Amino acid sequence: MPTTEHSFTTTAENKAFDQKHRHTINNNIDKYNTAVQRGLHQYQDHDLARSRAAYIKTQTIEHLDQYLLEFEQNFVKRGGKVIWAETAADALREVWAIFQAKKARMVVKSKSMTTEEIGLNEYLEARGIENVETDLGEYIVQLAHQKPYHIVTPAMHLSRQDVSQIFTEKLGVPPTDDATELTLTCRRMLRQKYTEAEIGITGGNFLIADVGGVAVTENEGNARLSTTFPKTHIAIVGIEKIIPKLQDLDLFWSLLATSGTGQRLTIYNSVYSGARQAEEPDGPEEMYVILLDNGRTELLADAQKRQSLNCIRCGACLNACPVYKNIGGHSYQTTYSGPIGSVISPHYNGMKEFKHLSYASSLCGACGSVCPVKIDLPLLLLQNRAQSVNEGLNTTVEKIGFQLWRRTMLKRHRLNRWSGRVKNYIFQRFFKGTWGKRRALPVVAPQSFNEMWRAKMKKKS
Ligand code: SF4
Repeated sequence: MPTTEHSFTTTAENKAFDQKHRHTINNNIDKYNTAVQRGLHQYQDHDLARSRAAYIKTQTIEHLDQYLLEFEQNFVKRGGKVIWAETAADALREVWAIFQAKKARMVVKSKSMTTEEIGLNEYLEARGIENVETDLGEYIVQLAHQKPYHIVTPAMHLSRQDVSQIFTEKLGVPPTDDATELTLTCRRMLRQKYTEAEIGITGGNFLIADVGGVAVTENEGNARLSTTFPKTHIAIVGIEKIIPKLQDLDLFWSLLATSGTGQRLTIYNSVYSGARQAEEPDGPEEMYVILLDNGRTELLADAQKRQSLNCIRCGACLNACPVYKNIGGHSYQTTYSGPIGSVISPHYNGMKEFKHLSYASSLCGACGSVCPVKIDLPLLLLQNRAQSVNEGLNTTVEKIGFQLWRRTMLKRHRLNRWSGRVKNYIFQRFFKGTWGKRRALPVVAPQSFNEMWRAKMKKKS
């Protein structure tokens, strides 16, 4: 069976030379970049806003235990129910218990990477539950039996023509090039599902401690519909999403919108703080929040990598990353792709299996420079690499290679022992198939400076 590393390398290599993929992604990321430049105009000092957000998130994560308990206390006060899930399996078990208690057969879901992380769709489908994604991008990838390509724009890799083809094949509608028509098809298909589903599931962009609320931000109104019609609302949220106060949304909602899609503010922003109250006209009869750990406390315990929990999942680092733009989101074979995915996936899914992602970076620094909460992503990637080496996870060939390299570089006579001809032979013999596969290998001069100098001195004497 191929290792995850081998399968990553093969897929990434194929994707990097897929012209159609490159065209679609470049096109979509160009549009994103233009929108972000427009969105940034709302800030007098964007860097200051980023520093404030980084400060708030760092302080909150440092006192995560207190804020989570504050959230629970306030959420429960309004009749909400909080479930703590240490692992993905715990979360799934709890979700299933609610489905059984409600005798539910259908669920409408709004886009949530946390539910992707725990494999909720597959879990529910295996139990015969009709599981309907209601975000347009998610709906498209669900129809195409694919995983989300990007944490914010799941169908970023598909062109209008691709979407039309998927709709024609799966829904039997006539092909069209018109984006509005495609959106209306989705709308027609989904409307009735909201009223039929017994349960609505969302993620949460922020957990607000002081009011016990779950903030959900979206552009299509599908999350609102998913939480209004069904009698039960379950929000599955990672524990790191906590912020202290409702007022903090002022900063975080706009930063998330601008970095995520270039908007000044996302279209629909809601705060859910429990089930429908007596004086309220609509809303669910019951609301649960499942607080998911699933490896996050491992990161919390690591003082160096803790800052990765500050992430607000805006996706900006993916869009800025030259590696992501070339190999695409699916190559990573993880829920979270791009630079932040490469940082956290080895901790969520196993360092041994996913350490290679920390090497899938040119360390150019583009990711860190766009992050709205100033996470030092290049540093964290290096720390992951160091951890994997310290844990002895690098290959024997790599270990021997670096030992030889070190020994040679530490002594001038060792470096000079071989002539240019021998060095060129070594390059061709050992690096042609890997490093030199798609680039011209360096050619060492036949005579080194040292040799030339010695020859010159000899001639003089
Ligand atoms: S690491 Fe920063 S840029 Fe990347 S998704 Fe998280 S918040 Fe956004």
